[in-house]
Amino acid sequence: IGSLFLVATPIGNLEDMTYRAVRTLQECDIIAAEDTRQTRKLLSHFEISPSMLFSYHEHNKAASGPELVRYIIEGKNLALVSDAGLPAISDPGADLVALAISHGIPVIPIPGANAALSALIASGLSTNTFTFIGFLPRERKDIRTVLSPLRSAQGTLLFYESPHRVVKTLAHLQEAFGNRQIVLARELTKRYEEFLRGSIEECTLWLAEHPPLGEYVIVVEGESKEDAEIAESAWWRQLSIEDHVA
Ligand code: SAM
Repeated sequence: IGSLFLVATPIGNLEDMTYRAVRTLQECDIIAAEDTRQTRKLLSHFEISPSMLFSYHEHNKAASGPELVRYIIEGKNLALVSDAGLPAISDPGADLVALAISHGIPVIPIPGANAALSALIASGLSTNTFTFIGFLPRERKDIRTVLSPLRSAQGTLLFYESPHRVVKTLAHLQEAFGNRQIVLARELTKRYEEFLRGSIEECTLWLAEHPPLGEYVIVVEGESKEDAEIAESAWWRQLSIEDHVA
């Protein structure tokens, strides 16, 4: 039986490809890719010539998943890559991983670039607890279903968004959470990497003057500073009352 390798690829900057990713892609019998044209470019940059490049994406995964699993059971090592970053994070892959595990196939992560965590660590917002949401659904009703329970979530929230929808998404976030502090991380690892820090309103105003371009991670603070301060001062009050009593 072979193994399933989940290989991270760069999210913009080719220097983020790891040595281990290159070696794994060189050594695997099959590379399954979300967009084979895009992956071919990456492979040729690193002078990797795959013996077999297989297409695995959202629309063919139901059929190609079992086929890939069959190859692995026959003894082939398979590397899964997505267009960018970690496969299975807002990318096809999670289903293949589950299928492989159900057949007793070893699954080996080859870590590397990821947009959400790169944005989080440079955001300046709390990294202690965070929730990754990725892309919001398209329908207003579904958006509400996702956002309402997050209103009282303690940690930082991480969203993915395209330039076409980022302004609309900010409006949804403001409606759900109020005017919280956010960080818009744009074009991470690329030439025009940019971090915009401010309230949702401030960032929306900025985007009205500077139309959104490139890919975005929206990092949202977990609870407004005011709420946190109120909660903290209540805690101190309670503590000093207890001191008094003691
Ligand atoms: N698998 C990827 C990962 O590990 O981050 C995510 C793939 S998802 C289909 C694509 C989304 O990730 C984009 O719409 C954007 O929100 C975010 N993204 C990917 N690359 C980015 C970058 N260089 N800068 C900012 N966001 C990025």
